[in-house]
Amino acid sequence: MSGAASAAAFPPLREELRGLEPYGAPQLDVPVQLNVNENPYGPSPECVADIAAAVAAAATTLNRYPDREFTELRTALAAYLSRDTLPTRGFEVRPEQVWAANGSNEVMLQLLQAFGGPGRCALSFAPTYSMYPEYARDTVTTWVQGRREDDFTLDLDAARAQVLEHRPTVVLLPSPNNPTGTALPPEAVAVLCEAAASYEPSGVVVVDEAYGEFRRAGTPSALESLPEHPNLVVSRTMSKAFALAGARLGYLAADPRICDAIRVVRLPYHLSAVTQAVALAALRHAPELLGKVDELRVERDGLVTWLREQGLEVADTDANFVLCGRFADRHAVWQDLLEHGVLVREVGPEGWLRVSVGTPQEMETFRTAFRRVREAGTAPLIGEQP
Ligand SMILES: *Cc1c(COP(=O)(O)O)cnc(C)c1O
Repeated sequence: MSGAASAAAFPPLREELRGLEPYGAPQLDVPVQLNVNENPYGPSPECVADIAAAVAAAATTLNRYPDREFTELRTALAAYLSRDTLPTRGFEVRPEQVWAANGSNEVMLQLLQAFGGPGRCALSFAPTYSMYPEYARDTVTTWVQGRREDDFTLDLDAARAQVLEHRPTVVLLPSPNNPTGTALPPEAVAVLCEAAASYEPSGVVVVDEAYGEFRRAGTPSALESLPEHPNLVVSRTMSKAFALAGARLGYLAADPRICDAIRVVRLPYHLSAVTQAVALAALRHAPELLGKVDELRVERDGLVTWLREQGLEVADTDANFVLCGRFADRHAVWQDLLEHGVLVREVGPEGWLRVSVGTPQEMETFRTAFRRVREAGTAPLIGEQP
């Protein structure tokens, strides 16, 4: 056998994975990192001390497997979510309605493992989160890419028709959407949950509220609709507003039967004792960790206004990032900003760049860098003379 032939067969990767790159934004050591929608504010010394003490206590038990059902954490997450349902709708989220895993990416992969699979399909509406098709690929689920309107909003009649046509068992619906920041229209949850319940096997509708805490005042969370829709799943994460991306903790709220179904596919002890301890300690500091959300929202709205004043198109955003363009050569703009020490994200439809909202100082650095790049004339917008 020739060397070339054995190289082609090794390792024995699934045919459809050959030549694919792993997902992920470039991790570069740059002063101003505005590329993965993290909360720019780290924990206070008191919060760090509490987390460290919780980890120390967990460390004394590390010869044993952790609580497989993470009961204490589920209870604490349920109490946290109830803050979005009790005042407005008068019900509490119960611990048996909560499921958690190592990031909401893992939560959603588990949903596809349980409810997708060969002969079934999953649907979302593009442009949207680029990990969704990967969950489908990895679980051998057919991927159907539905469409949004030109302004990135979702037309509910069109969305409903796409659900009824393809009969997905999983609909993935971020609100606010990534990378555009677009909020869902208020009736979307009811319309799409009813559509997905109208065929056999029926579909679950996953409202991915990774950026839910950044939504505008008065906008309800999909959590409020849980009692009406047994096929509704609301996914959340501690990675964004909660300022805990490094801990890897995502979770969902849904009908307890959905949580029970996921327990069939989860790996045993998937949430380590250390992860559980860190998340529990962080939840005790929720007011502090979420304390900058209002400021970040103000900073976001300021950034949208400023970019529009610079003549750019900017998508309306309810999240902690802004999609702007349209650049004739977005990669060149990304590169030029990088040379000024500012890392943004090359994502979304051709011509657009996504900028996460940082501290006021980081945003000032971004604006200065952006002005310089524009003045250098190497970053023309589409239709502009270079
Ligand atoms: C960041 C993000 C997530 C969260 O990822 P984690 O795995 O929880 O860190 C989920 N959905 C969307 C749309 C995101 O942008």
